[in-house]
Amino acid sequence: MSTTGSPPTVADVVAALDRRYPPAWAEEWDRVGLVVGEPTNPVRRIACVVDVVPETVDEALAAGADLIVAHHPLLLRGVSSVAATTYKGRIVHRLIKSDVALYVAHTNADVADPGVSDALAARFGLTGLRPLHRPRPGSPADGPGRGIGRIGELPTPMTLAELARHAAAVLPATAWGVRAAGDPGRMVRTLAVSGGSGDSFLGEATAAGVDAFLTADLRHHPAGEHLAAGGPALLDAAHWATERPWLDDLAAQLRGELGVETVVSDLDTDPWTVHAAAPRPDDKEPPP
Ligand SMILES: [Zn+2]
Repeated sequence: MSTTGSPPTVADVVAALDRRYPPAWAEEWDRVGLVVGEPTNPVRRIACVVDVVPETVDEALAAGADLIVAHHPLLLRGVSSVAATTYKGRIVHRLIKSDVALYVAHTNADVADPGVSDALAARFGLTGLRPLHRPRPGSPADGPGRGIGRIGELPTPMTLAELARHAAAVLPATAWGVRAAGDPGRMVRTLAVSGGSGDSFLGEATAAGVDAFLTADLRHHPAGEHLAAGGPALLDAAHWATERPWLDDLAAQLRGELGVETVVSDLDTDPWTVHAAAPRPDDKEPPP
């Protein structure tokens, strides 16, 4: 820790992040923690990103960052090569050559309290927050307030159609925007939110008795069958937009605890870059 005026080291930052987001809290399949980095290197500036892609690495290097904290693992599945001839290997090479460390906090940051979905819930002003999906009792992540996703009450009830428009306005802007499934006139008071892919929590949203559930990456069959069974209305936002709010919390914590400078990436890394709505019947045909 920086008590003598010297900047914290990569090891100091890792220790601080590991305290807030213990790696043992991550799902078994997940891969979190320090990915690239020399523990003794000083860290003056940290870049916070959702995805480690060439564009966000460019941003971090241009900002003079010494360390990148990312939400999504760069290397999730087994790799046998990080040669610069591969997409991810090229990123690893750029980081090492530039002496920039990389740390990942993924499902361990989702489950934490406060975690990724607290920042998402805050965009909607939800109150009385409680977890949507609690960790298995006795598992390392089990603890008060912890769990993936949050449930809370909207400050003002609104219809599903109004909530979809509201969500598109309060979430970071993307081409995808927000789509909703269910009766557009259905009143929503209690909302569940889960940053990232929330397909697997549809049953828990139903069991919790919420009016609507906002997440990302929802699919035709699970969504349709969930609604047919009387489940809550669904809002499907861009994956990046549901996790970007957390970066502000992360950056504030790093500044406060370590005295480092931070930069937060607003680069939309969602793969969907074009959204076209079908023309309404009274719309004129566009000129050729
Ligand atoms: Zn995600």
